[in-house]
Amino acid sequence: MDSPITSIKGIGEKTATLFHRVGVHTVGELLSYYPRTYDVYEKPVTFANLKTEQIQAVTGFLKKTPSVTKTKRYAVTTVVLEEFGEYLHLTWFNMPFLKNTLIPGNTYIFRGRVQKKKGRLVMEQPEYFTPEAYGEKLNTMQPVYGLTAGLSNKTVAKAVKQALDSRNLNPEYLPEEIRMDQELAEYNFALRTIHFPVKWEDLLLARKRLVFDEFFLFILALRQMKEAAEVRSNECPCRPVKETEQLLKSLPYELTGAQKKVFREILKDLSGERVMNRLIQGDVGSGKTVVALLALVCVVYNGYQGALMAPTEVLARQHGQSIREMLEAAGLPVRVAVLTGSMTAKEKCLAYEQIESGAAGIVVGTHALIQNQVHFRHLGLVVTDEQHRFGVRQRETLAEKGAFPHVLVMSATPIPRTLAIILYGDLDISVLDELPANRIPIKNCVVDESYRATAYRFMEKEIAAGRQVYVICAMVEDNPDLELENVVDYTKKLKDAMNPSITIEYLHGKMKAAEKNEIMERFAAGEIQVLVSTTVVEVGVNVPNASVMMVENAERFGLAQLHQLRGRVGRGKHQSYCIFVSGNDSPDTKKRLEILNKSNDGFYIASEDLKLRGPGDLFGIRQSGLLEFKIGDVFTDAGILKAASEEAAKLQKRDPSLMMEEHRELRKKLVSFRMAGDKNVSL
Ligand code: ADP
Ligand code: MG
Repeated sequence: MDSPITSIKGIGEKTATLFHRVGVHTVGELLSYYPRTYDVYEKPVTFANLKTEQIQAVTGFLKKTPSVTKTKRYAVTTVVLEEFGEYLHLTWFNMPFLKNTLIPGNTYIFRGRVQKKKGRLVMEQPEYFTPEAYGEKLNTMQPVYGLTAGLSNKTVAKAVKQALDSRNLNPEYLPEEIRMDQELAEYNFALRTIHFPVKWEDLLLARKRLVFDEFFLFILALRQMKEAAEVRSNECPCRPVKETEQLLKSLPYELTGAQKKVFREILKDLSGERVMNRLIQGDVGSGKTVVALLALVCVVYNGYQGALMAPTEVLARQHGQSIREMLEAAGLPVRVAVLTGSMTAKEKCLAYEQIESGAAGIVVGTHALIQNQVHFRHLGLVVTDEQHRFGVRQRETLAEKGAFPHVLVMSATPIPRTLAIILYGDLDISVLDELPANRIPIKNCVVDESYRATAYRFMEKEIAAGRQVYVICAMVEDNPDLELENVVDYTKKLKDAMNPSITIEYLHGKMKAAEKNEIMERFAAGEIQVLVSTTVVEVGVNVPNASVMMVENAERFGLAQLHQLRGRVGRGKHQSYCIFVSGNDSPDTKKRLEILNKSNDGFYIASEDLKLRGPGDLFGIRQSGLLEFKIGDVFTDAGILKAASEEAAKLQKRDPSLMMEEHRELRKKLVSFRMAGDKNVSL
């Protein structure tokens, strides 16, 4: 399981690099690179029965050679099929060779997602088969993997198959008793079936087992940590200091009751007997940053250093800047070192020096940088922002450096308290359940594409009044290249559609960190009025002057994610608006978006979302995308989570350090699980 993927037949260095990009380095990681979903190759349907937004197959007789038109960016191949007076348009991007592959006079099966565009039925990038080839696939379930440019689904499936066929079976590591009590399938069966299911029932069993494992191991690891943490005494005791008062006085607002309460809890921890391990849960915009800063200032004026870790570089830089501003306004001469990946070696060196010498009181950076390369003089507090799963292992890494700092985890993920207690069993939980009073509730609307022109006029009006605007484009699944096209093309169209004096720029995941920073900084400074972006702006970004958030293809996002996106506006004193543009008008979509339309409350949205998601969605695209488990979903699998938690508790009572012979395999598994957790750091 630990050997590199190049040990699999047919995977050379080049393919291995592609696998590395999706986080797969070892055979074990490949086997746990579970399919995102499964394709069931169903019988072709008639054109009249096609449903939009669903993947379906049709039988089509090709009358003419496909036509190819070239635009600047790509070649578009089109075919128009006709059946009893109904038309279906097929388009492919950058596949001009199809002109020679698809022969007029032949019948093919085309399969893809059907959409309605300008009143026409369209299938983009459909797969194509001869009727014979399709007959072989009919009614089988094919795994669909997350991909990256250059890595095809076929390559992944083949590699997984090779790995499954060539290796020795894994020893079953779950104690027999647990397997029996929880009715869990055997491990090897589960692994094989999750990739290549034969029957739906088997797939459900396999999934249940793997979800259980993931939760179970996670909770066991946490519990072991907690055991260790509980006896750990407070090595960085802090007394309340007057500087936090000074900071409070300089703020242009008063803390909310919830902020005051949480800060009191933190102060109590910092001066307590034991080291602090606290989770602050607070909806977007509840004002977590200032609470973190208060804690950092307290620690600094007690003679220690504090670190603030953010999941993205954009966010790290933004935090660095706003913290500097707040400290300056308060007249507190604390040096803040910022540490991000795109800094030059020289800049980094300087930062390292300041951190090591203790000259820097507060260090702000991305997770990995702070963890791996930095030596602190005397680290007293680590705050992680928007990290939904601050790994057990990460905390250990810090501890291994010889320091046992206080830990504060901040998260906007709206998980119900009961789940939070299970997931973050080793953390005390504080809730920021109150938004600042001056907030004006965001006005929402759900519209279709015909509303776009009106929306643009509205945006122009807001911009004329000095505000700024976000436009979010959906990711194009499985095709990062198209995603980029999407944003770039959209920006171009938007420039044509809007007043030319407006500055419009775009942001997407494939841009270099330095480019992203530049765009983000210009947006924050008000130099850019409209920012067209993929969901890279989702987390944490704070530009209070932005008042409009328009989300294209809102139906493609999970509700929790849309809520996060919406949280980018309504952060200042201006009335803000969120426009969800839905690309289809199916009743399901309407119902889901209606939830957002009605409420701005993250907890309410999460619970309603949960109600709408039946078991049929189990294998759908991750709706929350926020709690990063590979296969388990804390919402839909809440029952399994609870069972895993109970079993972990029982086991720990029986054999706290897993020293019994019958737990040997489990012990080994737990060690490799914890090592793997190390790599789950997002940058
Ligand atoms: P989040 O909890 O989403 O991280 P932030 O900490 O970024 O929220 O705060 C969002 C905005 O609210 C910031 O512009 C911040 O200055 C402001 N803010 C924070 N606390 C208060 C408060 N008590 N009253 C008014 N505005 C506040
Ligand atoms: Mg934040």
